[in-house]
Amino acid sequence: MKKTLYLKFLLAYFIFGVFSFIIVTTFVPSITREQLIREKAENLYVEAALISNTYALGLYTSETDLETVKTQLDSLAVYLDSIIRIINPSGRLVLDTNEPLNVEDVVMIEDFDPTITSGSYYTVNRFFNNFDSDMLSVFAPITYNYMVKGYVVIHCDMNGIQESCNSLLSISYITLVILFLLSLIILIFFTEIVYVPLRKITYATEQYANGNMHYEFQVESDDEIGYLAACLNYMASQIAGAEDDQKKFVANVSHDFRSPLTSIRGYLEAMIDGTIPQEMHEKYLNIVLNETDRLTKLTNSLLSLNNLNTKGMLLDRTDFDINSVIRSTAASFEGTCRKKIIAIELILTDEEMYVYADIEKIKQVLYNLLDNAIKFSHHNSVIKVETSVKKNKLFLSIKDTGIGIPKDDLKLIWDRFYKSDLSRGKDKKGTGLGLSIVKEIINSHSEHINVISTEGAGSEFIFSLPLSAKNEEDD
Ligand code: ADP
Repeated sequence: MKKTLYLKFLLAYFIFGVFSFIIVTTFVPSITREQLIREKAENLYVEAALISNTYALGLYTSETDLETVKTQLDSLAVYLDSIIRIINPSGRLVLDTNEPLNVEDVVMIEDFDPTITSGSYYTVNRFFNNFDSDMLSVFAPITYNYMVKGYVVIHCDMNGIQESCNSLLSISYITLVILFLLSLIILIFFTEIVYVPLRKITYATEQYANGNMHYEFQVESDDEIGYLAACLNYMASQIAGAEDDQKKFVANVSHDFRSPLTSIRGYLEAMIDGTIPQEMHEKYLNIVLNETDRLTKLTNSLLSLNNLNTKGMLLDRTDFDINSVIRSTAASFEGTCRKKIIAIELILTDEEMYVYADIEKIKQVLYNLLDNAIKFSHHNSVIKVETSVKKNKLFLSIKDTGIGIPKDDLKLIWDRFYKSDLSRGKDKKGTGLGLSIVKEIINSHSEHINVISTEGAGSEFIFSLPLSAKNEEDD
């Protein structure tokens, strides 16, 4: 691609220049010459017609004598810068303003033929070889008693017409050159507005194609090219961001897989080589079991996240009773709660409350939130699960009185793999994926989730769900 667009434009520019030149130097001169001749002939014809109707007619009606007519036509010829002649139809020269009056000699114009004008009233030639160069000759018949008695012919030197033609043409040539130079402005505009930005864009796309997605470039214009450049920049930054996210994600996943695997390997090796005595095996096998649990949890969470991402908005929505889902999910934590002496208090509006959502995904949301609430609660505490209805929405809150979340971490807890330092000691099995799954699910329902938390006092997670129309039918 390189320079072809610019070369093409240059070529078009020069083709335009050459064609303009050819047209101006071929057609324009002949058209201008024709036009000038026609105009001159028209003017002379008016004079010739006037002479034929006055002085010349006077001659044939014997009202005036030849001498008087000659004197008058002589001065008119000087004024018109031409030669005026009166010629009989036979070709005899009656009067010539270029020659002295000679009545004795009969001067004939050989081969004189008035039809030479072929339908017109003027002709451009040497006038039956009477002149050394081309002359414009205008004919006006002298008619008396419906008969053509002779002709008034006015000859005008073509050199004068050619000179006017040339001066007009030189104006055209100068205009052409000025126009050609002015059109250079278009070339400069094209270079600045189209070519230079396009080069920048091409270079940037080459960089992106080579994988340098962080390459940035500037095109300062608010037209389509500027918009294209901005879109390209934005696209590259998005891809670069996605690439960075993916790298971070893979690094986190590898790290989270590696640490349990290292500890499993360590314990197993120690058991095989006898570093851990036989009687301690059970204890360490339980630790290994816990680590494999953690790996299973991590794998499941990754699969869930992947499904959420790839399926996007594909939700299997149904009308279901959220209260029974809350009750059954809470019941599934009975064992864990008993160990930590934690009570889950359910404060639910109505006996049944129908929502319109994907039941399996909402079960997972509840599970993850309750799991966290229990994990981060102290022994001997209460977790409250409360529902309320506002403006056609169901609000579900899960509130604990546990360790809480530091203020600076509140925004980060939704990120994949994020675990606050505070929680690390308490929750060795945590993956940091639970809340990002929760957020994805709630967002894919076009709903919202929020957290209110005070470090050391506890946390409350609240999310909304759309109420089902079934509630009204039941009422
Ligand atoms: P994890 O598997 O570590 O629980 P989550 O994504 O569910 O991952 O949570 C991310 C982090 O948010 C946790 O590590 C913890 O620091 C914080 N967190 C989540 N829920 C609570 C809660 N109820 N109380 C205190 N901290 C919480």
